[in-house]
Amino acid sequence: MYAQANMISKVSNPAFVLHDHSPEDVARATILGLQKEPFFIFDMDEAYRRIQYFKHKLPRVQIFYAMKANDGELMLKLAVATGLGFDCASIHEIHKILRLNVPPTDIIYAVTMKTPEQMMYARQSGVKRATFDSPSELVKLKEYWPDVELLLRISVKSDSVYQLGIKFGCNFETEATDLLDKAACMGLRVAGVAFHVGSTCLSPESYLKALQQARYLFDYEAKAGRTMRILDIGGGFFCDDNLFEQATSVIRKGLDELFPGPNVQIVAEPGRYICETACNLYCNINNVKTITKNDKPLNMVYINDGLHGSLRSFEKWHTIHKFELETTKHEELEDTILWGPTSDPRDCLTEVQLPRCTPRDWLVFKTQGAYASTFSSKFCGFGLVQTRFLISFDLWNKIKSHKVFRPSDFVIQPDVSSPLQSTMPPVVPAESCKHTNLNTLIDYLTSD
Ligand code: PLP
Repeated sequence: MYAQANMISKVSNPAFVLHDHSPEDVARATILGLQKEPFFIFDMDEAYRRIQYFKHKLPRVQIFYAMKANDGELMLKLAVATGLGFDCASIHEIHKILRLNVPPTDIIYAVTMKTPEQMMYARQSGVKRATFDSPSELVKLKEYWPDVELLLRISVKSDSVYQLGIKFGCNFETEATDLLDKAACMGLRVAGVAFHVGSTCLSPESYLKALQQARYLFDYEAKAGRTMRILDIGGGFFCDDNLFEQATSVIRKGLDELFPGPNVQIVAEPGRYICETACNLYCNINNVKTITKNDKPLNMVYINDGLHGSLRSFEKWHTIHKFELETTKHEELEDTILWGPTSDPRDCLTEVQLPRCTPRDWLVFKTQGAYASTFSSKFCGFGLVQTRFLISFDLWNKIKSHKVFRPSDFVIQPDVSSPLQSTMPPVVPAESCKHTNLNTLIDYLTSD
Protein backbone atom coordinates (compact mmCIF):
# COMPACT_ATOMS: atom_id res chain seq x y z
CA MET A 1 0.00 0.00 0.00
CA TYR A 2 2.84 2.35 0.77
CA ALA A 3 5.76 3.42 -1.37
CA GLN A 4 9.19 3.53 0.25
CA ALA A 5 10.04 7.19 0.50
CA ASN A 6 13.64 6.74 -0.68
CA MET A 7 14.36 10.38 0.06
CA ILE A 8 16.97 10.51 2.78
CA SER A 9 17.59 14.17 3.09
CA LYS A 10 20.78 16.16 3.26
CA VAL A 11 21.21 17.97 6.54
CA SER A 12 21.73 21.70 6.57
CA ASN A 13 24.05 21.64 9.60
CA PRO A 14 26.32 18.60 9.25
CA ALA A 15 27.99 17.05 12.28
CA PHE A 16 31.56 18.02 13.09
CA VAL A 17 33.71 14.90 13.51
CA LEU A 18 36.25 15.60 16.24
CA HIS A 19 38.96 13.48 17.82
CA ASP A 20 38.86 15.12 21.15
CA HIS A 21 36.11 17.55 21.73
CA SER A 22 34.38 19.22 24.54
CA PRO A 23 31.10 20.90 23.62
CA GLU A 24 32.21 23.92 25.64
CA ASP A 25 35.43 24.29 23.62
CA VAL A 26 33.51 24.17 20.36
CA ALA A 27 30.97 26.68 21.68
CA ARG A 28 33.79 29.00 22.72
CA ALA A 29 35.47 28.75 19.32
CA THR A 30 32.14 29.37 17.58
CA ILE A 31 31.47 32.47 19.65
CA LEU A 32 34.99 33.80 19.20
CA GLY A 33 34.46 33.27 15.45
CA LEU A 34 31.60 35.25 14.00
CA GLN A 35 28.56 33.72 15.66
CA LYS A 36 26.06 36.37 16.72
CA GLU A 37 22.80 34.45 17.04
CA PRO A 38 21.84 31.92 19.72
CA PHE A 39 22.81 28.33 18.96
CA PHE A 40 22.64 24.78 20.28
CA ILE A 41 25.60 22.46 20.60
CA PHE A 42 24.37 18.87 20.35
CA ASP A 43 26.73 16.11 21.49
CA MET A 44 25.75 12.98 19.54
CA ASP A 45 27.98 10.80 21.74
CA GLU A 46 25.93 11.74 24.80
CA ALA A 47 22.64 10.82 23.07
CA TYR A 48 24.26 7.54 21.91
CA ARG A 49 25.39 6.78 25.49
CA ARG A 50 21.84 7.39 26.73
CA ILE A 51 20.37 5.04 24.12
CA GLN A 52 22.88 2.31 25.02
CA TYR A 53 22.32 2.78 28.74
CA PHE A 54 18.56 2.60 28.35
CA LYS A 55 18.95 -0.66 26.40
CA HIS A 56 21.34 -1.99 29.04
CA LYS A 57 18.97 -1.20 31.92
CA LEU A 58 15.84 -2.49 30.16
CA PRO A 59 17.08 -5.24 27.84
CA ARG A 60 13.58 -6.61 27.18
CA VAL A 61 12.26 -3.22 26.08
CA GLN A 62 12.41 -1.95 22.49
CA ILE A 63 12.80 1.82 22.23
CA PHE A 64 10.34 3.75 20.07
CA TYR A 65 11.96 7.18 20.37
CA ALA A 66 9.43 9.98 21.00
CA MET A 67 10.70 12.26 18.26
CA LYS A 68 8.66 15.20 19.56
CA ALA A 69 11.44 15.64 22.13
CA ASN A 70 14.05 16.48 19.50
CA ASP A 71 13.56 15.96 15.78
CA GLY A 72 16.89 17.36 14.66
CA GLU A 73 17.88 15.55 11.47
CA LEU A 74 21.04 14.04 12.93
CA MET A 75 19.35 13.04 16.18
CA LEU A 76 16.79 11.15 14.09
CA LYS A 77 19.48 9.58 11.94
CA LEU A 78 21.35 8.49 15.08
CA ALA A 79 18.13 6.91 16.37
CA VAL A 80 17.66 5.08 13.05
CA ALA A 81 21.30 3.92 13.01
CA THR A 82 20.97 2.51 16.54
CA GLY A 83 17.90 0.50 15.57
CA LEU A 84 15.17 2.45 17.33
CA GLY A 85 11.53 2.61 16.32
CA PHE A 86 9.54 5.86 16.53
CA ASP A 87 6.61 7.24 18.48
CA CYS A 88 5.01 9.76 16.13
CA ALA A 89 2.68 12.41 17.47
CA SER A 90 1.42 13.72 14.12
CA ILE A 91 1.33 12.87 10.45
CA HIS A 92 4.06 15.46 10.00
CA GLU A 93 6.34 13.40 12.20
CA ILE A 94 5.31 10.27 10.29
CA HIS A 95 6.24 12.00 7.04
CA LYS A 96 9.55 13.19 8.42
CA ILE A 97 10.63 9.78 9.68
CA LEU A 98 9.47 7.91 6.57
CA ARG A 99 11.76 10.18 4.56
CA LEU A 100 14.63 8.47 6.36
CA ASN A 101 13.40 5.13 4.96
CA VAL A 102 12.24 3.90 8.36
CA PRO A 103 9.81 1.01 7.76
CA PRO A 104 6.29 2.18 8.66
CA THR A 105 5.96 -0.91 10.85
CA ASP A 106 8.57 0.68 13.15
CA ILE A 107 6.18 3.54 13.92
CA ILE A 108 3.52 3.86 16.60
CA TYR A 109 1.07 6.65 15.90
CA ALA A 110 0.67 7.43 19.60
CA VAL A 111 -2.23 9.87 19.37
CA THR A 112 -5.70 9.13 20.75
CA MET A 113 -7.64 11.83 18.86
CA LYS A 114 -6.99 11.52 15.15
CA THR A 115 -9.06 13.04 12.36
CA PRO A 116 -10.30 10.83 9.51
CA GLU A 117 -7.76 12.50 7.20
CA GLN A 118 -4.91 11.74 9.59
CA MET A 119 -6.05 8.12 9.95
CA MET A 120 -6.16 7.71 6.17
CA TYR A 121 -2.75 9.34 5.81
CA ALA A 122 -1.20 6.97 8.35
CA ARG A 123 -2.90 3.95 6.80
CA GLN A 124 -1.81 4.86 3.28
CA SER A 125 1.72 5.36 4.55
CA GLY A 126 1.78 1.78 5.85
CA VAL A 127 1.67 2.58 9.57
CA LYS A 128 0.06 -0.30 11.42
CA ARG A 129 -0.28 0.75 15.05
CA ALA A 130 -2.10 3.53 16.86
CA THR A 131 -3.48 4.27 20.30
CA PHE A 132 -7.08 5.03 21.33
CA ASP A 133 -8.92 5.84 24.56
CA SER A 134 -12.56 6.54 23.64
CA PRO A 135 -15.62 5.02 21.95
CA SER A 136 -15.85 7.81 19.37
CA GLU A 137 -12.29 7.18 18.22
CA LEU A 138 -13.30 3.57 17.61
CA VAL A 139 -16.18 4.72 15.40
CA LYS A 140 -13.80 6.75 13.23
CA LEU A 141 -11.23 3.95 13.16
CA LYS A 142 -13.85 1.43 12.04
CA GLU A 143 -14.61 3.60 9.04
CA TYR A 144 -11.20 5.00 8.10
CA TRP A 145 -8.61 2.53 9.44
CA PRO A 146 -10.35 -0.80 10.07
CA ASP A 147 -7.18 -2.90 9.82
CA VAL A 148 -5.22 -0.89 12.42
CA GLU A 149 -3.58 -2.70 15.36
CA LEU A 150 -4.80 -0.77 18.36
CA LEU A 151 -3.22 -0.09 21.72
CA LEU A 152 -5.66 0.88 24.45
CA ARG A 153 -4.18 3.82 26.33
CA ILE A 154 -4.96 3.85 30.02
CA SER A 155 -4.56 6.90 32.21
CA VAL A 156 -2.08 6.63 35.07
CA LYS A 157 -1.99 8.70 38.24
CA SER A 158 1.54 9.72 39.15
CA ASP A 159 3.70 12.40 40.62
CA SER A 160 5.02 13.88 37.38
CA VAL A 161 5.98 17.35 36.24
CA TYR A 162 3.74 16.98 33.17
CA GLN A 163 0.57 15.07 34.08
CA LEU A 164 -0.36 13.46 30.78
CA GLY A 165 -3.03 11.37 32.55
CA ILE A 166 -5.36 14.35 32.90
CA LYS A 167 -5.58 14.64 29.11
CA PHE A 168 -5.00 11.15 27.71
CA GLY A 169 -6.01 7.62 28.52
CA CYS A 170 -9.22 5.97 29.62
CA ASN A 171 -10.09 5.32 33.23
CA PHE A 172 -8.84 1.86 34.12
CA GLU A 173 -11.61 1.11 36.64
CA THR A 174 -14.63 2.43 34.78
CA GLU A 175 -13.85 2.42 31.05
CA ALA A 176 -11.07 0.06 30.01
CA THR A 177 -12.87 -3.29 29.75
CA ASP A 178 -15.92 -1.67 28.10
CA LEU A 179 -13.65 -0.22 25.43
CA LEU A 180 -12.02 -3.60 24.84
CA ASP A 181 -15.46 -5.23 24.43
CA LYS A 182 -16.68 -2.44 22.18
CA ALA A 183 -13.64 -2.74 19.90
CA ALA A 184 -14.16 -6.51 19.69
CA CYS A 185 -17.86 -6.08 18.85
CA MET A 186 -16.91 -3.69 16.07
CA GLY A 187 -14.41 -6.17 14.66
CA LEU A 188 -11.43 -3.97 15.53
CA ARG A 189 -8.21 -5.58 16.72
CA VAL A 190 -6.77 -4.43 20.03
CA ALA A 191 -3.20 -5.69 20.03
CA GLY A 192 -2.11 -4.29 23.37
CA VAL A 193 -2.11 -1.71 26.13
CA ALA A 194 -0.24 1.60 26.32
CA PHE A 195 0.36 4.00 29.18
CA HIS A 196 2.49 7.03 29.97
CA VAL A 197 3.16 7.83 33.60
CA GLY A 198 3.64 11.53 32.78
CA SER A 199 6.72 13.33 31.57
CA THR A 200 9.51 13.69 34.12
CA CYS A 201 8.01 11.14 36.47
CA LEU A 202 9.08 11.54 40.09
CA SER A 203 7.24 8.46 41.36
CA PRO A 204 8.89 5.31 39.95
CA GLU A 205 6.27 3.09 41.64
CA SER A 206 3.70 4.53 39.16
CA TYR A 207 5.20 2.25 36.51
CA LEU A 208 4.41 -0.79 38.66
CA LYS A 209 0.80 0.27 39.21
CA ALA A 210 0.39 0.74 35.45
CA LEU A 211 1.99 -2.66 34.72
CA GLN A 212 -0.46 -4.31 37.12
CA GLN A 213 -3.40 -2.65 35.41
CA ALA A 214 -2.08 -3.68 32.01
CA ARG A 215 -1.71 -7.29 33.24
CA TYR A 216 -5.35 -7.26 34.36
CA LEU A 217 -6.43 -6.15 30.87
CA PHE A 218 -4.28 -8.78 29.16
CA ASP A 219 -5.97 -11.43 31.35
CA TYR A 220 -9.41 -9.97 30.66
CA GLU A 221 -8.82 -10.27 26.93
CA ALA A 222 -7.44 -13.79 27.25
CA LYS A 223 -10.57 -14.88 29.15
CA ALA A 224 -12.66 -13.44 26.32
CA GLY A 225 -10.65 -15.54 23.84
CA ARG A 226 -8.72 -12.55 22.49
CA THR A 227 -4.94 -12.28 22.60
CA MET A 228 -2.93 -9.11 23.14
CA ARG A 229 0.78 -9.14 22.45
CA ILE A 230 2.11 -5.56 22.79
CA LEU A 231 2.75 -3.61 25.97
CA ASP A 232 3.79 0.01 25.55
CA ILE A 233 5.21 1.50 28.77
CA GLY A 234 5.51 5.03 27.32
CA GLY A 235 8.11 7.58 28.37
CA GLY A 236 8.45 9.80 31.40
CA PHE A 237 12.02 8.83 32.30
CA PHE A 238 13.84 11.64 34.06
CA CYS A 239 17.51 12.32 33.40
CA ASP A 240 18.29 12.25 37.10
CA ASP A 241 20.49 9.13 37.55
CA ASN A 242 18.90 8.11 40.81
CA LEU A 243 15.34 8.30 39.55
CA PHE A 244 16.27 6.51 36.34
CA GLU A 245 17.85 3.64 38.31
CA GLN A 246 14.75 3.38 40.50
CA ALA A 247 12.30 3.51 37.58
CA THR A 248 14.17 0.90 35.52
CA SER A 249 14.55 -1.40 38.53
CA VAL A 250 10.78 -1.20 39.23
CA ILE A 251 10.02 -1.89 35.56
CA ARG A 252 12.45 -4.82 35.27
CA LYS A 253 10.99 -6.51 38.34
CA GLY A 254 7.42 -5.71 37.30
CA LEU A 255 7.97 -7.16 33.81
CA ASP A 256 9.63 -10.32 35.13
CA GLU A 257 6.79 -10.92 37.53
CA LEU A 258 3.80 -9.84 35.44
CA PHE A 259 4.94 -10.35 31.85
CA PRO A 260 7.46 -13.19 31.91
CA GLY A 261 8.24 -14.98 28.68
CA PRO A 262 8.67 -13.76 25.13
CA ASN A 263 5.04 -13.69 23.98
CA VAL A 264 4.47 -10.03 24.69
CA GLN A 265 6.52 -7.41 22.84
CA ILE A 266 7.49 -4.69 25.32
CA VAL A 267 8.10 -1.22 23.92
CA ALA A 268 8.83 2.18 25.49
CA GLU A 269 8.61 5.70 24.10
CA PRO A 270 11.32 7.70 25.87
CA GLY A 271 11.92 11.21 24.59
CA ARG A 272 13.49 13.45 27.20
CA TYR A 273 15.78 10.74 28.57
CA ILE A 274 17.45 10.20 25.21
CA CYS A 275 18.28 13.76 24.27
CA GLU A 276 17.95 16.24 27.14
CA THR A 277 21.52 16.04 28.42
CA ALA A 278 23.03 15.97 24.93
CA CYS A 279 22.52 19.62 24.17
CA ASN A 280 23.26 23.07 25.59
CA LEU A 281 21.89 26.39 24.40
CA TYR A 282 24.15 29.44 24.07
CA CYS A 283 22.55 32.89 24.10
CA ASN A 284 23.99 36.32 23.65
CA ILE A 285 22.84 39.42 25.50
CA ASN A 286 20.97 42.12 23.62
CA ASN A 287 20.87 44.69 26.37
CA VAL A 288 21.27 45.23 30.09
CA LYS A 289 19.84 47.81 32.45
CA THR A 290 19.68 48.06 36.21
CA ILE A 291 16.52 49.02 38.08
CA THR A 292 15.67 49.28 41.73
CA LYS A 293 13.23 46.75 43.13
CA ASN A 294 12.36 46.55 46.83
CA ASP A 295 15.13 49.10 47.45
CA LYS A 296 17.68 46.76 45.92
CA PRO A 297 19.40 46.87 42.52
CA LEU A 298 18.15 44.33 40.00
CA ASN A 299 19.90 43.69 36.67
CA MET A 300 17.47 43.37 33.79
CA VAL A 301 19.22 41.24 31.18
CA TYR A 302 17.59 40.91 27.76
CA ILE A 303 18.86 37.86 25.89
CA ASN A 304 18.43 36.83 22.26
CA ASP A 305 16.26 33.75 22.88
CA GLY A 306 13.33 33.27 25.21
CA LEU A 307 10.05 31.64 26.13
CA HIS A 308 8.66 31.95 22.62
CA GLY A 309 11.85 30.52 21.15
CA SER A 310 13.93 27.67 22.52
CA LEU A 311 13.32 28.31 26.20
CA ARG A 312 9.64 27.54 26.47
CA SER A 313 10.39 24.28 28.26
CA PHE A 314 12.98 25.83 30.53
CA GLU A 315 12.55 24.13 33.92
CA LYS A 316 13.75 24.72 37.45
CA TRP A 317 16.27 21.85 37.23
CA HIS A 318 18.02 23.49 34.26
CA THR A 319 21.08 25.51 35.13
CA ILE A 320 22.28 28.83 33.68
CA HIS A 321 25.80 30.19 33.75
CA LYS A 322 27.62 33.14 32.34
CA PHE A 323 29.72 31.42 29.69
CA GLU A 324 33.41 32.06 30.22
CA LEU A 325 35.08 33.06 26.98
CA GLU A 326 38.40 33.49 28.69
CA THR A 327 39.55 32.77 32.21
CA THR A 328 38.10 35.46 34.36
CA LYS A 329 38.58 36.36 37.97
CA HIS A 330 35.83 35.42 40.40
CA GLU A 331 32.91 37.80 39.99
CA GLU A 332 30.27 38.67 42.60
CA LEU A 333 26.80 37.31 41.93
CA GLU A 334 24.00 39.85 41.57
CA ASP A 335 20.20 39.64 41.46
CA THR A 336 19.29 39.28 37.80
CA ILE A 337 16.09 38.88 35.86
CA LEU A 338 16.32 37.28 32.41
CA TRP A 339 14.02 38.50 29.65
CA GLY A 340 13.49 37.06 26.19
CA PRO A 341 13.71 39.17 23.02
CA THR A 342 9.99 39.40 22.11
CA SER A 343 7.41 42.08 22.84
CA ASP A 344 5.50 39.84 25.27
CA PRO A 345 5.97 40.89 28.93
CA ARG A 346 5.45 37.23 29.88
CA ASP A 347 8.60 36.45 27.94
CA CYS A 348 10.49 36.40 31.23
CA LEU A 349 12.59 33.36 32.00
CA THR A 350 13.61 33.48 35.60
CA GLU A 351 15.20 35.46 38.40
CA VAL A 352 18.68 34.19 39.00
CA GLN A 353 21.99 35.11 40.60
CA LEU A 354 24.56 35.92 37.92
CA PRO A 355 27.74 37.95 37.64
CA ARG A 356 27.10 41.37 36.11
CA CYS A 357 26.61 40.99 32.35
CA THR A 358 27.25 43.22 29.35
CA PRO A 359 26.09 42.84 25.74
CA ARG A 360 29.41 41.16 24.96
CA ASP A 361 28.62 38.25 27.27
CA TRP A 362 27.02 34.91 26.52
CA LEU A 363 24.95 32.68 28.78
CA VAL A 364 24.79 28.91 28.58
CA PHE A 365 21.59 27.05 29.38
CA LYS A 366 22.55 23.48 30.14
CA THR A 367 20.68 20.32 29.11
CA GLN A 368 18.33 21.85 26.57
CA GLY A 369 18.17 18.86 24.22
CA ALA A 370 14.54 17.94 24.89
CA TYR A 371 11.47 19.99 23.99
CA ALA A 372 13.55 23.14 23.37
CA SER A 373 13.92 23.30 19.60
CA THR A 374 10.62 21.45 19.00
CA PHE A 375 8.60 23.85 21.20
CA SER A 376 9.98 26.97 19.48
CA SER A 377 7.67 29.38 17.75
CA LYS A 378 8.52 32.14 15.32
CA PHE A 379 6.71 34.82 17.35
CA CYS A 380 7.86 38.33 16.40
CA GLY A 381 9.41 36.84 13.26
CA PHE A 382 12.54 35.40 14.84
CA GLY A 383 14.15 32.47 13.03
CA LEU A 384 14.55 29.06 14.64
CA VAL A 385 17.79 28.55 16.53
CA GLN A 386 20.36 26.48 14.62
CA THR A 387 22.13 23.43 16.01
CA ARG A 388 25.78 22.43 15.72
CA PHE A 389 26.07 18.65 16.00
CA LEU A 390 29.31 17.11 17.28
CA ILE A 391 30.37 13.49 17.01
CA SER A 392 33.55 11.79 18.18
CA PHE A 393 35.77 10.07 15.66
CA ASP A 394 35.11 6.71 17.37
CA LEU A 395 31.33 6.98 17.23
CA TRP A 396 31.46 8.27 13.66
CA ASN A 397 33.56 5.23 12.71
CA LYS A 398 31.01 2.95 14.33
CA ILE A 399 27.90 4.34 12.65
CA LYS A 400 28.97 6.17 9.50
CA SER A 401 28.35 3.23 7.15
CA HIS A 402 24.71 2.90 8.15
CA LYS A 403 22.62 3.58 5.06
CA VAL A 404 20.70 6.40 6.74
CA PHE A 405 23.79 8.61 6.56
CA ARG A 406 25.15 10.55 3.60
CA PRO A 407 28.84 11.52 3.48
CA SER A 408 27.64 15.14 3.51
CA ASP A 409 26.13 14.58 6.99
CA PHE A 410 29.65 14.88 8.41
CA VAL A 411 32.54 17.32 8.19
CA ILE A 412 35.79 15.52 8.86
CA GLN A 413 38.19 18.38 9.47
CA PRO A 414 35.84 21.10 10.55
CA ASP A 415 36.61 24.69 11.20
CA VAL A 416 35.09 24.77 14.67
CA SER A 417 35.04 28.55 14.70
CA SER A 418 32.82 28.85 11.64
CA PRO A 419 29.44 30.46 12.36
CA LEU A 420 26.22 28.49 12.00
CA GLN A 421 23.81 29.17 9.20
CA SER A 422 22.35 32.63 9.84
CA THR A 423 18.65 33.19 10.29
CA MET A 424 19.02 36.93 9.56
CA PRO A 425 16.83 37.99 6.65
CA PRO A 426 18.61 39.50 3.63
CA VAL A 427 18.59 43.29 3.58
CA VAL A 428 16.11 44.84 1.16
CA PRO A 429 17.94 48.12 0.52
CA ALA A 430 16.00 51.27 1.21
CA GLU A 431 15.03 53.13 -1.97
CA SER A 432 17.72 55.78 -1.55
CA CYS A 433 20.41 53.13 -0.97
CA LYS A 434 19.65 51.43 -4.28
CA HIS A 435 21.16 54.38 -6.15
CA THR A 436 24.82 53.84 -5.73
CA ASN A 437 25.59 55.92 -8.80
CA LEU A 438 25.62 59.59 -7.68
CA ASN A 439 23.89 60.94 -10.81
CA THR A 440 21.10 58.45 -10.50
CA LEU A 441 20.78 59.34 -6.86
CA ILE A 442 20.53 63.06 -7.68
CA ASP A 443 17.93 62.25 -10.37
CA TYR A 444 16.02 60.23 -7.84
CA LEU A 445 16.13 62.96 -5.20
CA THR A 446 15.11 65.75 -7.57
CA SER A 447 12.33 63.83 -9.33
CA ASP A 448 8.78 64.29 -8.09
N1 PLP B 1 4.89 9.10 24.39
C1 PLP B 1 3.83 9.93 24.43
C2 PLP B 1 2.51 9.41 23.96
C3 PLP B 1 3.96 11.25 24.89
O1 PLP B 1 2.90 12.06 24.92
C4 PLP B 1 5.25 11.70 25.29
C5 PLP B 1 5.45 13.08 25.76
O2 PLP B 1 4.60 13.93 25.75
C6 PLP B 1 6.33 10.80 25.20
C7 PLP B 1 6.12 9.52 24.77
C8 PLP B 1 7.73 11.21 25.61
O3 PLP B 1 7.77 11.41 26.98
P1 PLP B 1 9.13 11.74 27.72
O4 PLP B 1 9.80 12.82 27.00
O5 PLP B 1 8.70 12.10 29.09
O6 PLP B 1 9.94 10.47 27.75
